[in-house]
Amino acid sequence: MIIILTPEATENDLQDLVGNLKDRGYGVHISKGVEKTIVGAIGAPDEDKAVIAEQIESFRYVERVVPILKPYKLVGRDFHPDKTVINVNGVEIGGEKIVVMAGPCCVENEDQTMETAMAVKAAGASILRGGAFKPSTSPYGFQGLGEDGLKILARAREATGLPIITEVMDARDVGLVASYTDILQIGARNMANFSLLREVGETRKPVMLKRGLSSTIEEWLQAAEYIAGRGNYEIMLCERGIRTFETFTRNTFDISAIPAINGISHLPVVADPSHGTGKWSLVSAVSRAAIAAGADALIVEVHPHPEKALKDGAQSLRPDKFQLLMNGIGAIAKAVGRTV
Ligand code: PEP
Ligand code: MN
Repeated sequence: MIIILTPEATENDLQDLVGNLKDRGYGVHISKGVEKTIVGAIGAPDEDKAVIAEQIESFRYVERVVPILKPYKLVGRDFHPDKTVINVNGVEIGGEKIVVMAGPCCVENEDQTMETAMAVKAAGASILRGGAFKPSTSPYGFQGLGEDGLKILARAREATGLPIITEVMDARDVGLVASYTDILQIGARNMANFSLLREVGETRKPVMLKRGLSSTIEEWLQAAEYIAGRGNYEIMLCERGIRTFETFTRNTFDISAIPAINGISHLPVVADPSHGTGKWSLVSAVSRAAIAAGADALIVEVHPHPEKALKDGAQSLRPDKFQLLMNGIGAIAKAVGRTV
């Protein structure tokens, strides 16, 4: 259930309520909005919820108690009506400005990563992406450079000032990856890896949770709930396309997921037109569509030499094409009341 406090409620009242809820066996999550403080009480003990709600409603500082029937609670708008804005080293995701994250699919070596980092920065990107631990469908495919790749990313951050985002695939590596990165990426194949989700939920690093290959919006939000349930509310949701019968594109980019998520969740939405289409020639158009639909950020694969890329060359933009993408999104952003 969620408990909405009256505008007059004090900090002492809030602590009184938190103590009361904890004594009853609830997990307590607090959302302090611009207008109201809302308390989420989760993990209800086996008692009559209607009776508990009435008891809580009798407190002078409680305005209303509302049961949450949806399968996701902390990541929903009922609990947190205001949009979440995540500050990553000064870059705000979920605010007025559209944030562009860009970089190679994989960190392949120092030169390739540095060259790409400089190019995406010059074109206007504000976060550098790059995979060091790579999910590979084939066990014989490139698996990434591991910690050496993280070190290269850290040096690219130092050289450019761009915060970095990189994927963590294994719960055992969360501490290591978190010690290098500014944003932890959970890949599509791991969206339902619940022990990994709990582990990143224990950190206080922002997390970008990609939509699973064949996941519904509700399953995706419940995955985010695993992270929020551990106290890490800095989560962004990344639409990266889903499996359909279509084979012309690598995946089918679900444009409707963007306004759908914005309606029911307060979490920022990131669009990945690279994995969403699998074709570099479609990336700009889908980027513009995603911004028009309400995306807060883009994550785009860029490679200086896609013909030599170890992975995802076909969907990677050369730096000059990425510059064109950047030039093209400003007008769309403006049309929907945003900036780039
Ligand atoms: C990636 O971002 O390089 C990646 C592997 O993405 P996804 O998990 O969406 O397939
Ligand atoms: Mn990739």
